[in-house]
Amino acid sequence: MRTYRIATIPGDGIGKEVVPAGRRVLEALAAQHRDFRFEFENFAWGGDYYREHGVMMPADGLDALHGMDAILFGSAGDPQIADHITLWGLRLKICQGFDQYANVRPTRILPGIDAPLKRCTPADLDWVIVRENSEGEYAGVGGRAHQGHPIEVATDVSIMTRAGVERILRFAFRLAQSRPRKLLTVVTKSNAQRHAMVMWDEIAAQIALEFPDVSWDKELVDAATARMVNRPASLDTLVATNLHADILSDLAAALAGSLGIAPTANLDPERRYPSMFEPIHGSAFDIMGKGLANPVGTFWSVVMMLEHLGETEAARKVMTAIEAVTANRALHTRDLGGEATTEEVTAAVCARVGG
Ligand code: ATP
Repeated sequence: MRTYRIATIPGDGIGKEVVPAGRRVLEALAAQHRDFRFEFENFAWGGDYYREHGVMMPADGLDALHGMDAILFGSAGDPQIADHITLWGLRLKICQGFDQYANVRPTRILPGIDAPLKRCTPADLDWVIVRENSEGEYAGVGGRAHQGHPIEVATDVSIMTRAGVERILRFAFRLAQSRPRKLLTVVTKSNAQRHAMVMWDEIAAQIALEFPDVSWDKELVDAATARMVNRPASLDTLVATNLHADILSDLAAALAGSLGIAPTANLDPERRYPSMFEPIHGSAFDIMGKGLANPVGTFWSVVMMLEHLGETEAARKVMTAIEAVTANRALHTRDLGGEATTEEVTAAVCARVGG
């Protein structure tokens, strides 16, 4: 019997609703399987922890997570605490501490979901966006001086290293190679950013030589947004810098119907550390505690977790259950135009997974 140790970190807002829902799906799955089980440990870190202790997570928090096989994360964000504190104090601390340098965001239009693009069918939109997750624009390098004075100065320096760019582009080419179309779009901005992004382009051309069976092209990030809307079927796998992919993947989620559906994986592809799986939405305090949160983004994140753990068949089972539930409009939450509650959607997915 294989045992997987899963850390759950609900964090803030609706994270406290969707992460327990994700755990229930995993429990329903394990109840049906004789060959694997899950051991969960919950970590109540985030905004409430910050109010009590002055930090989002304890100083030795990464040590507590290190022995885990995977982390299921909710969201970090609190209306009373500055966003840069909640983000850097918890989620980025884990991503950077565990060198989860590849952020993978699949987008598809699931059955039953109305996507806003009129001319777009589910067959036209099946993307995976790979986001560089360890450096670039979010390297955290910069500073402020003379605060409040007319001569105040502030910088955020984007850092790109050859090692960092090579590993994310190699990861993206490999992922593109594993998908049927073997098609990669390298998103860039080398017309305006003439140092780091030019290096990015050069390294892309070098890494491409290792993958002769992958077709690839280059697209400026601004043109990429228009192409996602106008020619979605021309895209399959995309790779972009930390900031560019952050923005493109929110656009992708919206084009596929709702922010509440989209999943993400923060991977350490070398498996030195646990990887972390989370819905891409944030804490959404406006709907917190009302039973309105769509748990599908978390369930799809659970699918990515199972794939990462090598439980391919179980992953397929959960994805099939999710698709059966989205296909039923009576089980749509309010963000999808329906009236179903988090509990109803969770119970429906658990029933299918457990059946
Ligand atoms: P944060 O500051 O933590 O990023 P946010 O509230 O600013 O959070 P999101 O949570 O990403 O931003 O989402 C914006 C809006 O989309 C929310 O206010 C909410 O109304 C809606 N939304 C997001 N996620 C979901 C979900 N899972 N189910 C239903 N609606 C959602």
